[in-house]
Amino acid sequence: MTVENKVALVTGAGQGIGRGIALRLARDGFKLALVDLKEGPVLSVAAEIGALGGQATTFEADISDRTQVYAAIDHAEAQLGGFDVMVNNAGIAQVQPIAEVTPEEISRVMRINVEGTLWGIQAAAAKFIARGHKGKVINACSIAGHDGFAMLGAYSASKFAVRALTQAAAKEYASRGITVNAYCPGIVGTGMWDEIDGRFAELTGAPKGATFKKYVEGIALGRAETPDDVACLVSYLAGPDSDYVTGQAILIDGGIVYR
Ligand code: NAD
Repeated sequence: MTVENKVALVTGAGQGIGRGIALRLARDGFKLALVDLKEGPVLSVAAEIGALGGQATTFEADISDRTQVYAAIDHAEAQLGGFDVMVNNAGIAQVQPIAEVTPEEISRVMRINVEGTLWGIQAAAAKFIARGHKGKVINACSIAGHDGFAMLGAYSASKFAVRALTQAAAKEYASRGITVNAYCPGIVGTGMWDEIDGRFAELTGAPKGATFKKYVEGIALGRAETPDDVACLVSYLAGPDSDYVTGQAILIDGGIVYR
């Protein structure tokens, strides 16, 4: 699939899945706005996109701050001359037994994963409406948005909430020609999983790498997921072939959770 003259914004584009999505959408022909907490990593992703012959701009923003999310979208529009696709990818993991989750920890994970996604949906939809055209919103959910995982209770709750927001927003914005969907990866070998594996090692005494290995052994297709695997689905959701899909939180996990 190739598109022309369309602009996509990806949050958390500095590494991992967000970087993979940004590179794939650039190959698809999108102009990219790369948003992350720090500019360094997104600048290097922008350079990779430039080397592919694509166009990218970068913006520093914390997605849990509503004003910064609106500013990021204004920046994308001003720099790239449009705004068509919003990928609310940034998120954080949190590994903690239910008994030990603190008020600060649950607030942090909800502020970033849930509020950050909410601000991204409403700011993107407001921009599409102001520009008078349709658009696509694509949210990062997870297998943990379909099943609650042990030691990942707060994280799972945040991803269930992302699925709920995806459905509600799809219904509210359908009459405006705006679709809202989510991708639900499984076990992707990124910085987030290094962190999850390390926390499991601390909490359970499992050797480093053992938790990741155990989860990967449970995947039907027999290997860990890559950011490129996820990017294939996001490419479909960002492009015209998915025009009749909305309100879905699609599993792409190699066979872990079946719905
Ligand atoms: P990662 O930790 O490797 O990268 C996340 C990126 O988001 C980083 O660049 C980070 O700086 C950025 N970020 C974090 N908080 C932010 C904030 N408040 N504002 C702006 N940027 C922020 O994570 P990843 O594995 O690439 O995960 C990306 C998304 O996919 C997340 O929403 C995650 O929950 C989801 N996901 C990941 C996996 C997995 O196995 N890695 C599985 C399912 C879902």
